[in-house]
Amino acid sequence: MLYYKIGFIPPSLSENSVIARKSEGEATHQINRLRRLVEISRVLSSTLQVEPLLATIIGTAAELTDTEASSILLLESRSQKLRFAAASGAKRDQLKNIAVPLEGSIAGWVVRNGQRVILTEAGPDPRFYRHVDRSIGFSTRSLMAVPLKVGRNGKEHTIGALEVLNKRGEARFSDDDLDSLTALASQAAIAIENARLVADLQQAYAQLSQLDRRKSEFIAIASHELRTPLTIILAYASFLQEQTKDSTQENVKIVVESATRLQALIDNLTNLRYLETGQEPARLNPCDIKKLLTSVIPEFDALAASKGLGLQLRLPKDSPMVRCDAQKVQVVISNLVSNAIKFTPAGGQVMVTAARRGSDIHISVQDTGIGIPKEEHERIFQPFHQVEPVLTRNHSGMGLGLTIARGLVEQHGGRLWAESEPGKGSTFTFTLPLA
Ligand code: ADP
Repeated sequence: MLYYKIGFIPPSLSENSVIARKSEGEATHQINRLRRLVEISRVLSSTLQVEPLLATIIGTAAELTDTEASSILLLESRSQKLRFAAASGAKRDQLKNIAVPLEGSIAGWVVRNGQRVILTEAGPDPRFYRHVDRSIGFSTRSLMAVPLKVGRNGKEHTIGALEVLNKRGEARFSDDDLDSLTALASQAAIAIENARLVADLQQAYAQLSQLDRRKSEFIAIASHELRTPLTIILAYASFLQEQTKDSTQENVKIVVESATRLQALIDNLTNLRYLETGQEPARLNPCDIKKLLTSVIPEFDALAASKGLGLQLRLPKDSPMVRCDAQKVQVVISNLVSNAIKFTPAGGQVMVTAARRGSDIHISVQDTGIGIPKEEHERIFQPFHQVEPVLTRNHSGMGLGLTIARGLVEQHGGRLWAESEPGKGSTFTFTLPLA
């Protein structure tokens, strides 16, 4: 301003102001690019679906570098070839069918060397893979490609390349273009890796769910198909047992006992299915827990005595009423008591107690048996889980009793848990809300 007033503009200053204006323009341009990069990094880190993520990356790459086209090529580990994961333009679907070799392509060179490339003229470069242009009728003039790198297990891996093609107008790729594309690629690579991990997890989850459905179908069919002939065997064997005498009666008794055991196993499978499908909700009615225990526990007297165990029941003085489905609670108690008897060596004790605790009743089955290691206390409630390995174990069973017991207790709004130490016995406690 001062110079205008005195009517003199030194030539050097006029040149400087042009440079100043130009660099001011460049600075604004650069700030805008950085702003766009920050903006896009936010979008990338919040997008977990692969397709929209890739579309955002190629769109931004072309926009930041002012180019006609852009693409992402990812390394396919099985074939060790690069595949177009995303590309701009009308022919992008065609591109998805083209495999680009690691040797003899610019993208391949970038991936193998982990380095960036600018080609002002792509055609004469021996690394340029012409097949892509020919296949889709495109003409690549200039090209810039950067590697997509991620860190895995503390090591850097190149998973693919990000390319932009044909700088618009007469311009050449600048250092700013290269820096912008590199910054975008470093964000993009992490986002792609995360999205792929999520997609893999979703796929694995879908497969697991399908397997779980098949398992449930198998259990449903097997238990249904086994039940009918078994009911017939049991009916005829029981009839025979009444009709026969002497040693034959003893033999038929063994058939009846074995068939009854088999029926209990099938009942377990059916109960598990009901719990998983929610087919049989608990029918809650006021119920006298003392009465229930006094009727169930004596059923185990003979079994406990045959194993040389003492079986005791300790009840509260009053008769607390709970809201429960008596049949289901009976299954819970039976499963816990038969386990206690099964896992307690001769000479031991099994004690069943019931006591009020606040608004609940706590029913415990305590034994002096083999006990359970701490890390198994929760696992034993998973279906088919048993502490001893299946092939070498000394006890029979399918590993369903506790799963079913916990499921049934939860149907009542209660909890079931284990407290135990190897060699010192176990206590299984479940709660039921007082009526
Ligand atoms: P099952 O008794 O048919 O194997 P459960 O689901 O009832 O199936 O029990 C799962 C596993 O938990 C048992 O195989 C056993 O290893 C352990 N377990 C259950 N109850 C006891 C107990 N009272 N003492 C020691 N281990 C037990």
